Amino acid sequence: MSYVDEVLERVIAKNPAEPEFHQAVKEVLESLRPAIEANEETYRREALLERLTEPDRQFKFRVPWVDDKGQVQVNTGYRVQFNNSIGPYKGGLRLHPSVNLGIIKFLGFEQIFKNSLTGLPIGGGKGGSDFDPKGKSDREVMAFCQSFMTELCKYIGADTDVPAGDIGTGAREIGYMFGQFKKIRGTYEGVLTGKGLSYGGSLARTEATGYGLLYLTEEMLKCNGHDIKGKTVCISGSGNVAIYAAQKAHQLGAKVVTVSDSTGWVYDPEGIDVALLKEVKEVKRARLTEYAAARQSAEYHEGRGVWSVKCDIALPCATQNELFLEDAKALVANGCIAVAEGANMPTTLDATEYLQQNKVLFAPGKAANAGGVATSALEMSQNSERLSWTFEEVDSKLQGIMVNIFHNLDDAAKRYGKEGDYVTGANIAGFEKVAEAMIAQGVC
Ligand code: GLU
Repeated sequence: MSYVDEVLERVIAKNPAEPEFHQAVKEVLESLRPAIEANEETYRREALLERLTEPDRQFKFRVPWVDDKGQVQVNTGYRVQFNNSIGPYKGGLRLHPSVNLGIIKFLGFEQIFKNSLTGLPIGGGKGGSDFDPKGKSDREVMAFCQSFMTELCKYIGADTDVPAGDIGTGAREIGYMFGQFKKIRGTYEGVLTGKGLSYGGSLARTEATGYGLLYLTEEMLKCNGHDIKGKTVCISGSGNVAIYAAQKAHQLGAKVVTVSDSTGWVYDPEGIDVALLKEVKEVKRARLTEYAAARQSAEYHEGRGVWSVKCDIALPCATQNELFLEDAKALVANGCIAVAEGANMPTTLDATEYLQQNKVLFAPGKAANAGGVATSALEMSQNSERLSWTFEEVDSKLQGIMVNIFHNLDDAAKRYGKEGDYVTGANIAGFEKVAEAMIAQGVC
């Protein structure tokens, strides 16, 4: 049996009931085959893949807090420190009822390669909780965040592990967590990114994931003879990534016609009104029905359906496993030329294969959405030098990073005779640096 197959079997046997983690490992290891086979003897002796798929450590803890009625609530908190061979663990905190250890492990595993692809010195980690901030008062969110950080603060630090936002964790949650870290540990350090601008945050961090997604998409299109200008774009999701992806798409001359949330989706043939979307989602924290009610050109539909709309470019920006094989078929039938993942692993494995077989340009999340964590690393740099850079400085660095990422994965794919296969390219380019650092640092 090949080394890759052996490790895949072992990961599934050792981590039962973690389907998302299996999916992420399978996707990465399958596409690493050519790079692994070229060095099979060394990697096998070093047990490199066994070490890479086993987190350095994982924490699971109780998070008790008191709700507005005086009732004690108990959630579960997680932090998985996956790999720090190229820098301190880095990755977001997801607050969503679906969160469990397998989901955090899949996200942490993906983060290793994504962070490596940025070219910046950051390792891979992820955390979160099954707490649902939706419908909670500010006081309840603060109570949860303080309790969560009371435990988490034992394991993190500016040079150790630097969490950030993810689904459910935005500026408000990061603020409450930073305050609690400071209170308990007594140090003022860049222990979290995505901070507010008044206390060490970076300009352009809020926009970074969405903007970065468009910078990479624009470069991918350009290198394949297309212009983003004038293209119709379907976006799923309506959180931070989706909002700023839509904004940048419009700035680049494309037209975004859809967004979605957990209950329905909007089709707006005139183009999504980003200012209104921000008002509904960021200020009112309301449903998309409010967007549709306030905008005459918009239709609201219950359930799923974004991928049935005719478009040139599809940007899944909601969550994992939201673009299935039948969606991929609909996109291809409608003439879609490119899919770039704003979320982490939104496209299922069979859907990805179908898109690639049908010559749709496909940029995987670990490359396409790396702009968020890359700008987090820029926030860490600013915190270390106790300076802040201008919006233009950060944004132009972000743009350079995204263009570089695309060329790195394009080159890696070509080196292994897989031209145009950006999934393989991203995994190999991300893996090579981490593998080299792990081997150089010995068995640890
Ligand atoms: N949660 C984001 C991601 O999936 C950002 C992580 C960070 O900034 O550390 O990459």
